[in-house]
Amino acid sequence: MTAQLSTRPVPTGPADDALWPLTSRATDDGDLVVGGVRLTEVVNRYGTPAYVVDEDDVRERCHRFRQAFPDAEIAYAGKAFLCRAMARWVAEEGLSLDVVSAGELAIARSVGFPAERILLHGNAKSPHDLHSALDHGVGRIVIDSATEVARLAAATGGRRRQPVLLRVIPGVDAGTHPALTTGVEEQKFGLSLDSGGAEDVIRLILGQPDLELVGLHCHVGSQVSQPDAHAAAARRLVTALARIRTEHDVTLRQLDLGGGFPVPYSSAETTFDLLDHARRVRAAVADMCALHRYPTPKLTFEPGRGIAATAGITAYHILAVKHTSTGHAYVAVDGGMGDNPRCSLYGARYTVRLVGRRPRGEMRPTSVVGRFCESGDVLAVDVPLPADLHPGDVLAVAVTGAYHHSMASNYNAVARPPVVAVKDGRARLLVRRESDDDIVTRDVGL
Ligand SMILES: *Cc1c(COP(=O)(O)O)cnc(C)c1O
Repeated sequence: MTAQLSTRPVPTGPADDALWPLTSRATDDGDLVVGGVRLTEVVNRYGTPAYVVDEDDVRERCHRFRQAFPDAEIAYAGKAFLCRAMARWVAEEGLSLDVVSAGELAIARSVGFPAERILLHGNAKSPHDLHSALDHGVGRIVIDSATEVARLAAATGGRRRQPVLLRVIPGVDAGTHPALTTGVEEQKFGLSLDSGGAEDVIRLILGQPDLELVGLHCHVGSQVSQPDAHAAAARRLVTALARIRTEHDVTLRQLDLGGGFPVPYSSAETTFDLLDHARRVRAAVADMCALHRYPTPKLTFEPGRGIAATAGITAYHILAVKHTSTGHAYVAVDGGMGDNPRCSLYGARYTVRLVGRRPRGEMRPTSVVGRFCESGDVLAVDVPLPADLHPGDVLAVAVTGAYHHSMASNYNAVARPPVVAVKDGRARLLVRRESDDDIVTRDVGL
């Protein structure tokens, strides 16, 4: 524990600073320090696999979004990564919160997240979701279908007028993975501006005295690679606001442009210029408002990945090393698609480094695979790793803070990893590791 900390990259993997949490530092003896804590210390104390979250990184990303959009509301999309501590950090940083279920809402409630700063989303909210949201008095509910209008109005029971947004399809292709594309006509989210679907639901909402339509919402997709997708959506939606004013004589004041801010997962991907992006979106809104003589609406953005992804890394132990007849090196770790389903869902690939010792010998292309019984359980393909990797070594995988813990499964009845927060030289457990008992306890029939 006495090795000198240095900012020099350790030659144990691709040393791309943008991919590791903001407080990361490499040590001369080959360790990685995050939040002032050595990763080997975290591993010794909590075991592997373990999700490690850099609290300062999360708070700094929240701050950067608020700085980039000083007049807008930033609503963190909790589906990316939510636990009670995360909800508290986000609340303390002055953000709002998107939830998509009664469960996420329960997490938010348990830390007293201000109800007026919570938005409920979902293309098919259950009666339980809606009742929980109304009980808690959430600030806005985003309506996504005609049936939801009557269901929600009935559920309000005349308690109060519930502010709602309407999710519409902006007709913008974000240029992302098909499973992450949500801005085009042929998918399950939102109502069409082109076909009149949105128009019909607006009429329904305006006819419900217990619902107050306050604005429009859209989300073009996740990991958006098309730089102007948000600006294009903004132009489209301001035009829609102007049309609604003409047809219904209501001036909606809120425009929620969703999330989708991309993050790089490898050094081959470019980093995203948030400030430049913010300027373009603001300009698009300003231009269209001027064109339609429409008062500038209050904007909301909903970053999920952009706040949580880079703050998180996953630590694994190597369990097996193999060499194929063609000379390929395969390193198998004690986790995989159970804690990281993005590999098998989207073919996502990751950046990996050895931690805890200095490597001997050269780097060579190595594939890192998981322990789950599917051949698609692959975390990294032909990434440069030390040739002397052996069972017992610790590998750290970068950019696992978003859509990992929240998407984890018990496939193969493997217990889910803990979430450990690091900050100011201290590690603390946020979510404990599941036990085999947890898995058996739920199984109540015989
Ligand atoms: C998933 C989602 C987000 C967050 O997306 P990111 O790509 O993580 O930023 C925001 N808003 C809505 C409605 C979503 O469905």
